[in-house]
Amino acid sequence: MTEKGWKELTIGTINLEAGNSLQNYTGTFRSGEKPIFKEETCIHCLFCWVFCPDSAIIVKDNKVKGIDYNYCKGCGICVIECPTKPKSLEMVVEEIYL
Ligand code: SF4
Ligand code: SF4
Repeated sequence: MTEKGWKELTIGTINLEAGNSLQNYTGTFRSGEKPIFKEETCIHCLFCWVFCPDSAIIVKDNKVKGIDYNYCKGCGICVIECPTKPKSLEMVVEEIYL
C-alpha cells in the first residue's frame, strides 16, 4: 500500500468509504479471553450491546442472541456492564494458536 501525501487527502480527512470497518476483523487481536453468553439469566436490557465498542453483540428482535467473535476483541466491557446476578456474560480463557 502506498502512502498518500497531504494533497491527496480529502478535506478534513473525511472518510468517503463509510462502513469499511466491517472489513476490519477486530477479533483477530483478541486479548486471550472472550465473553460467553448465558441466555438463561439474560433480561435483554441490551446494556452489553450499547457499551460494546466493536458492535460484537448479536441482537435480533430486541433480544441478545450471542457474540460475533469476528469482531469481539475481548475487552470485557460487556461483562462489567451486565447487571444480572449472576452475570449473563462471563469472560473465559481462550486458547490461542500462533
Ligand atoms: S468483550 Fe464484550 S464489549 Fe468487548 S468487544 Fe467483546 S463483546 Fe464487545
Ligand atoms: S447486559 Fe447482560 S442482561 Fe443485559 S442484555 Fe446483555 S447479557 Fe443480557
